[in-house]
Amino acid sequence: MNDINHNHLIVKPGSKILLTDYDSKYTGNFQSKVDAQGKLEAGVQQLRKYQDVLYAQNTYALLIIFQAMDAAGKDSTIKHVMSGVNPQGCQVFSFKAPSAEELDHDYLWRSAKSLPERGRIGIFNRSYYEEVLVVRVHPELLQKQQLPDSLKGNDIWKQRFEEINNFEKYLVNNGIVILKFFLNVSKTEQKKRFLDRIELPEKNWKFSINDVQERAHWDDYMSVYEDVFNHTSTAWAPWYIIPADRKWFMRLAVSEIICSKLKELNLKYPTVSEEHKQQLLQAKAILERED
Ligand code: ATP
Ligand code: MG
Repeated sequence: MNDINHNHLIVKPGSKILLTDYDSKYTGNFQSKVDAQGKLEAGVQQLRKYQDVLYAQNTYALLIIFQAMDAAGKDSTIKHVMSGVNPQGCQVFSFKAPSAEELDHDYLWRSAKSLPERGRIGIFNRSYYEEVLVVRVHPELLQKQQLPDSLKGNDIWKQRFEEINNFEKYLVNNGIVILKFFLNVSKTEQKKRFLDRIELPEKNWKFSINDVQERAHWDDYMSVYEDVFNHTSTAWAPWYIIPADRKWFMRLAVSEIICSKLKELNLKYPTVSEEHKQQLLQAKAILERED
């Protein structure tokens, strides 16, 4: 499983990137979905195996964050990548505009409550990064937050980047491994997918007029996303910019990166203690004595 050059997709900590340098149509060494089919299936199987050990070992947790513009394919990527895993070991949280209760707390509160337990894979479909994305593109959202006025100044974004980096460092130091994916869809491809959603009755439910309104802010979004990558891609929680115009490649890349991270952890099934081995023998003897 080494057909995808991860170094090409990772935002190197400390570097300054431009999103225009990232090709959303990139498909690595693959020509087509058919060409990648075997790898796609192998990736799902491999993740199933890693998850089983992650769960049994009960030491690490994996937090996977997805951020993207609308219609980039967050939902379908989550569906694909998780298709093989045991549902008991996996939790997905989708973060929408905060509720009144959530606004009454600090901005990391709802995320902290939703973190994966040890042994689990937790998926954030959108995340606390919205606090430095949509909230920055729409300043009125910041005004609605119950913050003291003196804390709503211009340095709030830099301050939030620092807080997020520290929060993630804290999680990693607690055994919660973090992967952050930006599904990088192009503006042209987004338009195509919106038109599909409008034209195909079975896709109508996926479309909201709000999606087109947000599209009008495309350049602002690209600029705040760049700022996020340039400030929060750290050695302990790097960002990956995943080409998203070809859905099959996006899924393959995400699943390969997840598998390679889990491999790095060198996960092991717990070893059985001498006492436990004795109990197994005792239990066997009891069962064998039955008629
Ligand atoms: P889909 O459209 O595929 O169902 P989605 O993630 O776009 O998925 P929506 O219900 O369409 O879900 O949108 C959720 C909205 O909530 C997004 O516009 C997002 O920017 C917004 N949101 C998420 N977190 C925050 C936040 N902390 N503050 C303000 N808005 C937020
Ligand atoms: Mg949406």
